[in-house]
Formats: sequence, structure tokens, C-alpha cells
Amino acid sequence: MAKKKESSILYCSFCGRSDREVELMLPGMNGCICNDCAERAVELSREYLDKMAHSALTDLDMETLPKPAEIKAYLDQYVIGQETAKRYLSVAVYNHYKRLNQRRDDDIDIEKSNIIIVGPTGTGKTLLAKTIAKMLKVPFAIVDATVLTEAGYVGEDIESLLTRLLAACDYNVAEAERGIVFIDEIDKIARKGDNPSITRDVSGEGVQQGLLKLLEGSVVNVPPQGGRKHPEQKMIAVDTKNILFICGGAFEGIERKIAQRLNTHVVGYGAGSHVSKSDRDKLLHFVAPQDLRSYGLIPEIIGRLPILTNLEPLDRDALLRILTEPKNAIVRQYKKLLEMDGVELVIDDDVLGFVVDKSIEYKLGARGLRSLFETIMIDVMYQAPSLKEKRYVLTREFAERQLSKSNFELLAESR
Ligand code: ADP
Repeated sequence: MAKKKESSILYCSFCGRSDREVELMLPGMNGCICNDCAERAVELSREYLDKMAHSALTDLDMETLPKPAEIKAYLDQYVIGQETAKRYLSVAVYNHYKRLNQRRDDDIDIEKSNIIIVGPTGTGKTLLAKTIAKMLKVPFAIVDATVLTEAGYVGEDIESLLTRLLAACDYNVAEAERGIVFIDEIDKIARKGDNPSITRDVSGEGVQQGLLKLLEGSVVNVPPQGGRKHPEQKMIAVDTKNILFICGGAFEGIERKIAQRLNTHVVGYGAGSHVSKSDRDKLLHFVAPQDLRSYGLIPEIIGRLPILTNLEPLDRDALLRILTEPKNAIVRQYKKLLEMDGVELVIDDDVLGFVVDKSIEYKLGARGLRSLFETIMIDVMYQAPSLKEKRYVLTREFAERQLSKSNFELLAESR
């Protein structure tokens, strides 16, 4: 290349390098930018815009804060049934964020409304918590209580649940401090003495004591990378005072504790001594803090989870609705996927009933609906995009064939 005249050399207005030193120089009206500076500028503006988007949305003042009825209406779009729990959650979350907006000089101290949801697995506990966090656009983390152990034992330190929350908001401490943590399987850290299925108490009462500190609200030193494998890492101080904790657990067998309590109560007032079988299915409705205590949660923990609500088991009708009604229902997702290939998916009415019945038969509940549907749809998804036909009708016979071909029965047993 011919040597450029000195006057025609372009210099980057940001780093000062000449066009001979960089790969590309982009001239503007009054200056130039080199490819390196342009890339850096893109990175910086992305970071800035992300941060702005986050902080604008987490700024939940009383005007922007959705009212309980709006929170519930939003939940209705994603979660089927569970009316009672939705109401409790909507009010608790609303109050929580109202509390955050309370004036500091106010002499009425509104207490935190941490929540505990009791209900069979796969009935929507995690989904509820996730949907609320999505609506409020606050950082959200899910932690499984079974992996938590007391400091010094194999497993994760209790503080590590805040590591996840920090990671969910790019380590922005101020945002994490207004986030929501969902602690799943809280029943698995029940005290050993009251729950024979727990064999190690390092993940029992000790963990409950550790958790208490977080629920109460205190400044906790959090290892940024979690675990104890990085002893050199600098701890991040996080104040849990305004973090909303939602705990969930199946509390299998708690009906017995509720029945016992109700029986004694009823007997005590001379109004008959037995809880009928049909009532037993509804016993979870009557779950009270005492039952959690007899199950093995320590009273202090129960005291820090003042909102107690329950989820219903999902019946056939609810499972059918789950397939089609939620905004991101499985059927809608498949229709969308094929629509992107220009194919219209038509599902015969009896296919949905068949899928639900199989999910009930294999005891897979709502979780099984997706895997069943995936098994049925795999060949369609494989072939449809290459077909000339622009309409695909899914029949029950086809669905039955696909399931028996895949040995779903055996697969379901191993789940
Ligand atoms: P868990 O109660 O064990 O936390 P999840 O919330 O994780 O259950 O539910 C598992 C999956 O089942 C969800 O991702 C969702 O697809 C479906 N599901 C469960 N319950 C409902 C419900 N009430 N409405 C809509 N979908 C549900």
C-alpha cells in the first residue's frame, strides 16, 4: 500500500491512535473512532442501559406498585387455580413493598411478611413465586433447602442462597436487598426428632437456626462465588432486612398432624370426634402454625414466616386447563413453534384429555404434562418443518402410538 500523506492520516478521537495502528477507523462529522473504542463504547452503553432498565423497574414507589387485585390478575395469567394462595401472596407482596416505601420517621414499624406455602409437589409453588418476581421485575433466586447445611459440613453454607440472589442482579447489592428468595423444600430441614425421614441433623435444626438469621433481617457476609472452595474471595455485605422470603414445602403427611389437632379440638368441644375421609383431602386448608411445629420446624422460624397458605392438589380439570390456558401454556408454545415454520397445528379435543389421564395414571401431575407432550410431539417437530402440508392435525391415535413407541411407561417409573 502506498504511504499515506501525513495530512490524510486519521486519528481516533478517543484513544488517539492513527489509522495505521488499528484495523478500522470510522470517520464522523468532527472526529473518528477506531474499532477498539467503538466496541468498548457498545459494551459500556449496553451495561449502562441494562442498569438503567433494572433500576427503573425496581423502583417500586406507591404509584407504580401494582395493587393486590392487579398482582392476582397477573398471576391468573400463568397459574391455574390456587385462588386462596394467590390472594394471600398478592396481599403479602403488596404489603412488603409498601413497607419498603414507608417513611423512615414513621413510628409504626410494619413487620416483614415472609411467606410459607404448604402444598403437594408440582402444584405451582415455585411457579407462583417466579411469576411474582417476573411481574415486579425484582431479582429472584430459587434455593433448595436440602443442599443447605450448617457451616463446617459438606453442602452449601446458608449464606450461599444470597450468592444466587446477587448473581441474579449482576452483584448489584442495592437491588439484591429488595429481591425475593424462594426457598424450596423447607420441610426437608424439619427437626430430626419429629421427622424420621431425616437422618442427618446437620441439615435440620442447625440449618433452621442459620436461616433464622436471614429471615429476621441482618447484615450477612456473602461469598460472591458461594461455597467454601474460594476462601480467598472478598465477602459482600448484604442486608436481608428488605428481602422477601417465600418458603415452600410439600410437608408430606402433615394432614395427620392437622387431623390430630382438629380432632382433639373437636372432641374438646363435644362436637364429634372424627374427621371424615373427604375432609381429609381438604385438611390442608386448615393448616396452622402449630402443625408446622409438630412437623419439626422450630417456633422461631415459624414466627418469621407469618403468612401461611396452602396449595390444592390439581384435579383433572385443573390439569386440562394448565395445558391450554396459561399465557405460556404448553399447547400454545407448540402452536407457536410450528407457526414459525408456517404450519398450523390443530389438536383434536380428545388428545388433551388423553395426555392428562396419562399424567394422572403415571402420577406425574402438572410436571408430567410437558414431558408427555414432548414425547408425543417429537416426530411432528422433526418432520413438520420439511413438509409441504401447512396444516398438521394431532389425533389421539397418533398420540397413543407415540407414547407406546417411546416406552413412556418405563420412563415415567424411573422419574
Ligand atoms: P412445586 O409446587 O413443586 O414448586 P412447580 O411450581 O415447580 O411445583 O410446578 C411444576 C410445573 O408444573 C410448573 O413449571 C408448571 O409448568 C406446572 N404447574 C404446576 N402447577 C401449576 C398451576 N397451578 N398452574 C399452571 N401450571 C402449573
